[in-house]
Amino acid sequence: MSKVALVTGGSRGIGAAISKALQAAGYTVAANYAGNDEAARAFSAETGIKTFKWSVADYDACVEGAARVEAELGPIAVLVNNAGITRDAPFHKMTPQQWKEVIDTNLSGVFNMTHPIWPGMRERKFGRVINISSINGQKGQFGQANYSAAKAGDLGFTKALAQEGARANITVNAICPGYIATEMVMAVPEKVREAIIGQIPVGRLGEPEEIARAVVFLAADDAGFITGSTLSANGGQFFA
Ligand code: NDP
Repeated sequence: MSKVALVTGGSRGIGAAISKALQAAGYTVAANYAGNDEAARAFSAETGIKTFKWSVADYDACVEGAARVEAELGPIAVLVNNAGITRDAPFHKMTPQQWKEVIDTNLSGVFNMTHPIWPGMRERKFGRVINISSINGQKGQFGQANYSAAKAGDLGFTKALAQEGARANITVNAICPGYIATEMVMAVPEKVREAIIGQIPVGRLGEPEEIARAVVFLAADDAGFITGSTLSANGGQFFA
């Protein structure tokens, strides 16, 4: 029987590419999303991948959502914590609400989703947890104190949990994408985007599929010696 993979924010952008790549690699995929029903419906119709709606910022919803996925598809072997948002503002203008929303989704969301799935992975002595962090969690970014803090927090979480999961054959790794051509980045004003591209040695934005490829690599059964790692995929922009 094929292994079950849950991808949060799995129906759009990088998450959609991850869901499709895992499906192509033979996994039964569950794609979580937060609120864009239209995108989820179109994605499901295109791929046949089941979509599940809940917010990763809500712990109880994650417990219930994980239970629903496992009841419908089977035990979750691979968890990709991909859901993320931005609420950018220079720090002197950043509101407590902007801070909280980003921390709740991008950092607490990773705790909320991993926590209910972890005991089953421990019992079954197998698991792959892959956290989608960001280059901006590695280097910091002007206007993103909230986002950079959350994404850097994801890296600390990854390293700590890797140690806890190691003896149970659960690997925990992070991927730090650079700038990838999704709605999140296309929402940035064109002038700023051009300036960003000018700083990327390969001279272009990354494609969602280029992040998905790294997820499939880390999810594999024979990737068991790679844990606690941060894999940068940023076109040569930043070396960690
Ligand atoms: P998109 O904005 O294109 O998609 C975000 C996805 O996350 C959507 O499916 C959205 O659901 C989902 N989502 C948002 N909030 C929640 C929530 N509370 N609960 C569940 N799902 C939620 O983002 P990207 O594809 O660009 O980004 C994916 C990940 O990669 C993020 O973690 C982002 O921080 C990270 N990243 C992106 C980079 C980039 O250049 N694009 C660079 C570095 C990191 P819905 O469809 O319902 O809105």
